[in-house]
Amino acid sequence: MAMISNHMPTAELQALDAAHHLHPFTHGNDLRKKGARVITRAKGVTLTDSEGNEFLDAMAGLWCVNLGYGREELAEVAARQMKELPYYNTFFQTTHVPVIALARRIAELTPGDLNHVFFASSGSEANDTNIRLVRTYWEQKGKPSKRAIISRKNAYHGSSMGSASLGGMAAMHAQGGMPIPDIHHIDQPYWWGEGGDMDFEAFGLARARQLEEKILELGAENVGAFIGEPVQGAGGVIIPPASYWPEIQRICAEHDILLIADEVICGFGRTGKWFGSETYDIKPDIMTIAKGLSSGYQPVGGSVVTDEIAEVLDGCEFAHGYTYSGHPVACAVALENLRLLEEEGIVTRAGSETAPYLAEKWAGLADHPLVGEAVIVGLMGSLALTPDKASRAKFAADPGTAGLICREECFANNLIMRHVGDRMVISPPLVITMAEVDMLIERAWRALDAAHKRLEAEGLMKAAS
Ligand SMILES: *Cc1c(COP(=O)(O)O)cnc(C)c1O
Repeated sequence: MAMISNHMPTAELQALDAAHHLHPFTHGNDLRKKGARVITRAKGVTLTDSEGNEFLDAMAGLWCVNLGYGREELAEVAARQMKELPYYNTFFQTTHVPVIALARRIAELTPGDLNHVFFASSGSEANDTNIRLVRTYWEQKGKPSKRAIISRKNAYHGSSMGSASLGGMAAMHAQGGMPIPDIHHIDQPYWWGEGGDMDFEAFGLARARQLEEKILELGAENVGAFIGEPVQGAGGVIIPPASYWPEIQRICAEHDILLIADEVICGFGRTGKWFGSETYDIKPDIMTIAKGLSSGYQPVGGSVVTDEIAEVLDGCEFAHGYTYSGHPVACAVALENLRLLEEEGIVTRAGSETAPYLAEKWAGLADHPLVGEAVIVGLMGSLALTPDKASRAKFAADPGTAGLICREECFANNLIMRHVGDRMVISPPLVITMAEVDMLIERAWRALDAAHKRLEAEGLMKAAS
């Protein structure tokens, strides 16, 4: 069998890929027609494809490469760990040095008394853990009826049965029989899309109070937890009004409901501080972490819980675990990633220097005729595309039509920006320089111009009635 390498013609790689590789979140027919983009290497914020094209990756992969690509230190740590102890599990009272070191480091970094980590290999696994963990916690406390978990429409918490059930993506629920029982969804705090004539902050309060209404409807004795991303990421970078989180916090405390902050995207510097919970002054009982924990160099995630929850769980054997919970290579790499993020001042600089600079430039994109709003917190931002700014109109065409066109024009301008429906989102590596920010904005503006022209030429600048 011939070796498959980067040096094969792109068309051959694409044909083989389409023949044997089932892709996540990809339409198979599109793949066959157009072929996948083959990424061959990356350095800093720049990706290179098999044709030698270079792209500014304004998405940090899938929101995860906070440290930027190509850090040799992580490769070296991985090689060293593989030679010393490539694998051992953490079941049945065994442990190893990398998992001990990483758990302690996470306990130090996370706020408050979030001091205990249950490891997984992904955010999805960690959120599945959370479902069982919350219910086991309440059973241990003699309140087994507190099983329900309340989440939000358009939330993203992963792709496994449990985590996708927690998520509020209608298209995902439509495939495969989700949500699983006892998961409930309230509306998201998305003012631009759903706020109508309401005042921004009043809308935030109203959306938070839906949690209280849902708790009262179900009975607080039946509700175990609320889960939310501090800022919804995959839902389109939906930044909540300032009134939202304090009210959620109040409601959870008042009704004795655990608060889970899904920090898979927001964690590790994305919102300008180490955790989104710090940016929004949330005091979660459980934090989901993954993505930036290792900057994507290794698959690793986890659930971080408070002293009180850990103490309650210690009263039983939690019959749960993954073969790769606390994988030594993943832990060693994550630890090195956290060391570099801190010692090189990457998180601090992203928050205090890069974020304000990017915010100012990003806000300027709201002047583009195709853009209804440009919002950003830290290094995660989004644009609402609209056929009519004044009325915050949605497009008459199917949702995502304009977004996809804009994304294609981004690629054509050597910029990777993702679309979520008709919102464009960014989440660049935290190491992005000011010059690269300028480049990002320039390319985004050109892509918006090109998309605008195409939408006009195709008669798509029409508002939904
Ligand atoms: C990506 C994501 C997940 C799922 O993480 P995976 O590692 O893809 O399983 C969970 N929650 C949030 C907020 C995410 O963005």
